[in-house]
Amino acid sequence: MVLAQLGGSISRALQQMSNATIIDEKVLNDCLNEITRALLQSDVQFKLVRDMQTNIKKIVNLDDLAAGHNKRKIIQQAIFNELCKILDPGKPSFTLKKGKTSVVMFVGLQGSGKTTTCTKYAYYHQKKGWKPALVCADTFRAGAFDQLKQNATKAKIPFYGSYTESDPVRIAVEGVERFKKENCDLIIVDTSGRHKQEAALFEEMRQVSEATKPDLVIFVMDSSIGQAAFDQAQAFKQSVAVGAVIVTKMDGHAKGGGALSAVAATKSPVVFIGTGEHMDEFEVFDVKPFVSRLLG
Ligand code: GDP
Repeated sequence: MVLAQLGGSISRALQQMSNATIIDEKVLNDCLNEITRALLQSDVQFKLVRDMQTNIKKIVNLDDLAAGHNKRKIIQQAIFNELCKILDPGKPSFTLKKGKTSVVMFVGLQGSGKTTTCTKYAYYHQKKGWKPALVCADTFRAGAFDQLKQNATKAKIPFYGSYTESDPVRIAVEGVERFKKENCDLIIVDTSGRHKQEAALFEEMRQVSEATKPDLVIFVMDSSIGQAAFDQAQAFKQSVAVGAVIVTKMDGHAKGGGALSAVAATKSPVVFIGTGEHMDEFEVFDVKPFVSRLLG
């Protein structure tokens, strides 16, 4: 179920509830079941949905609501709060500091949109007055350096990489050192993906992370991966200290549920979403407006 449909289904369930003359246990249950179904179809992890339903039932105690209370509003608020709670891990992401160099490392599976997102992130910050630089530490995928180079050149962002060096750790360290010397205040390290979550990928990520000591590790996730999102995000989190998530391809067939699940798995906030292939198709992610939009 794509995001717009999810929002539609939730609003419809709420509307049906408010059409009922009396909101009793059955009406509330029907409404919550409808919402549960919509969330599951949007690939939100089953456990999250179940917990949410339990919490709402705890909050909305129909017997305690005096007549005259707007039950629909109270229920709607509880649903809003619960959705926000899933998306808000309770701690803000690392923020860049002026006058200091920050190293941000990107991780994610091949095809997730990592390389594209590195440039979008650099470009976004460049427009805000930062001095970013890009390092291509992906020596696994042929063409990764060319892609980064092309993107970086288009955005006039300095870049570093190699066609011949096969050690990603070495490239990452050299790139970070060079750009520190050049007084860049945001050094972005693009690491290798792989098709699968495999031991070699995680080991490489760990080594690059140990060598470059990033201030922030961003996990990039394709929004269309569905129910696999939770496990994938957790696997990355177990290998490196993921501190933020970027969900790509939220345009088109995006299922929003994967994003909710990834946040829960990494306990890290979504900071941006990718909404297209172009450099500026990139939005800051804020929980409350997102959920508001979802609920219509
Ligand atoms: P990587 O292997 O993870 O580095 O992935 P790439 O950055 O090469 O991206 C894989 C494909 O996804 C490319 O064709 C990108 O143009 C595309 N892509 C990346 N982000 C987005 C997005 O937000 N929306 C859409 N529609 N396509 C995207």
